[in-house]
Amino acid sequence: MKKVLIAINNEFLRETYFQLFIEKNFEVLKAKDGKEAWGIFQESQPDVSIVDISLPEINGLDLLKKIREKQPFNKTPVIVFSQLEKKEERMKAMDLEANDFVTAAATTPAEVVRRVLIILGEQKSYRIAIQKNMMNAKELITDFGLTYDLKCKTCGNDLILYLIRDLSKGEDYFKISFICPECDSRP
Ligand SMILES: [Zn+2]
Repeated sequence: MKKVLIAINNEFLRETYFQLFIEKNFEVLKAKDGKEAWGIFQESQPDVSIVDISLPEINGLDLLKKIREKQPFNKTPVIVFSQLEKKEERMKAMDLEANDFVTAAATTPAEVVRRVLIILGEQKSYRIAIQKNMMNAKELITDFGLTYDLKCKTCGNDLILYLIRDLSKGEDYFKISFICPECDSRP
């Protein structure tokens, strides 16, 4: 189970994010100020953090700076959150190697969750066996430039259809390819 740290000043937004990430099967850690967030970060090592610029005690940018100083090589994804778009804040966040900069004014919580899933590579994938004589299978195989026997060139196994959700385009988009269930190590 992936852990997300939600360090957002506004209680309503914090709870909104909490619900959305719970629905995506995350363990959710919440902090209402920067000091609390820094403590949780060190203790629980979240897989991804969303830090609000307007956090009391330690603001989001200072928090990001502390996180980057603590982990100069192994960079945990951090998304900087702000109520409004301010150019200098965005520049500063990028200088500190934030993975993304989002604003409450321009980005919905659902969109932020989608971006987190992309950053973590959590796109859902499916492996489906196909019957090569059925319906359009032959056409599909030919269009993919594969030989009709649909066997793996390395081990001779039957290839299967592999679908992976392309979250950059939306929940209903998938990329498809043919893979060998033995030789291919895709997630
Ligand atoms: Zn194979």
